[in-house]
Amino acid sequence: MKKNKRRQSCAPRCPYCGSHSILKSAEGIYKNNSRDTMLYVCKNYPVCDSYVRVHPGTKIPMGTMANGELRRLRHEAHKYFNQLYESGYMTKDDAYRWLAAILYAPQNQAHIGLLGEYYCKVVIEESKKLLSRQTVHFITGVSMPIFT
Ligand SMILES: [Zn+2]
Repeated sequence: MKKNKRRQSCAPRCPYCGSHSILKSAEGIYKNNSRDTMLYVCKNYPVCDSYVRVHPGTKIPMGTMANGELRRLRHEAHKYFNQLYESGYMTKDDAYRWLAAILYAPQNQAHIGLLGEYYCKVVIEESKKLLSRQTVHFITGVSMPIFT
């Protein structure tokens, strides 16, 4: 029983069509799979374009399964979010604390891979706001309060 439960929690069900997912290589799904990425892919793929990566060397999904639109949004959200700490605007820890705060989520659940479309858009918008303030700061050279 316990074993079954664990297996279920690993191989997610597709949230779009309700089918099971299959753990398989990203070969033929990714244009370039040089990193030998493994995915949980919806059984109905490619009719149902839904999958999620696993953490390398494990069977643990990196988030929830996503279709093309949600994958695009998560990618974009990550791009803007990463800039918050890659630019030195805040530390990575602070960035994740900030993420948890805007998602109203506990920090261990504040991951872009878990987000739906709505919250991806929130992350994109809020990150952009912070990044644009930072740009003003750099251009003017005037010390401005960051959180106003
Ligand atoms: Zn599906």
